[in-house]
Amino acid sequence: MSYEAPKIRLIMELRKQGITDKRVLSAVERVPRELFVAEALRSEAYDNIPLPISQGQTISQPFIVAYMTQALCLGERDRVLEIGTGSGYQAAVLAQLCRRVCTMERYRSLLAQAEGCFEALKLHNITTRLADGAKGWPELAPFARIMVTAAAPSMPSVLVDQLDQGGIMVVPVGLSGEQALIRVTRQASGFKEERLLDVRFVPLVAGLPPGRA
Ligand code: SAH
Repeated sequence: MSYEAPKIRLIMELRKQGITDKRVLSAVERVPRELFVAEALRSEAYDNIPLPISQGQTISQPFIVAYMTQALCLGERDRVLEIGTGSGYQAAVLAQLCRRVCTMERYRSLLAQAEGCFEALKLHNITTRLADGAKGWPELAPFARIMVTAAAPSMPSVLVDQLDQGGIMVVPVGLSGEQALIRVTRQASGFKEERLLDVRFVPLVAGLPPGRA
């Protein structure tokens, strides 16, 4: 099946929804979303909807991926920390626009699958880690940018502390039903917080799952 027509439709829809950054649109255009979903869902890969992945998790709606990427104001020299690799799709989009993506996931099986996609797409600027992302990645901190793709119950100060001067973090905060996407900017004088959008994300869960999931 050719994905060209649905892909063009999606890009047009994202433009209408306010994604104006051409670099973000072209990154979405370049990353084959169909590779990141189960074969049975490939025909829906360019619908502007979230799709289920394994372990009860979801790959976000393309609009949300594009919106969060745009909100991060990425520079091409930036190193970005992503919490919640999931399918790996968001990391692959980020990897088009910055120097390095460091992405963390708590499910071994999801991470292994995402790594397979990064390999297939020759995305060599993504570093992965199986660990509790709520703790961040202190060995590699500080980061110019941080994106959290699971909802934190409250502003995660551990992650805020791993932001570089001038750094920006985009994070969904709140309990299910009332989550908002927040952008935190670290300024010399302190932190600026902006509430961007109401959202729905799976929760950020502390610790690793039991067994070898
Ligand atoms: N960015 C993903 C979306 C994944 S959904 C994509 O593009 O597909 C959120 C992911 O966050 C899930 O895979 C979930 O397992 C993961 N997650 C939740 N809590 C976590 C934690 N504490 N540390 C690391 N990953 C976590």
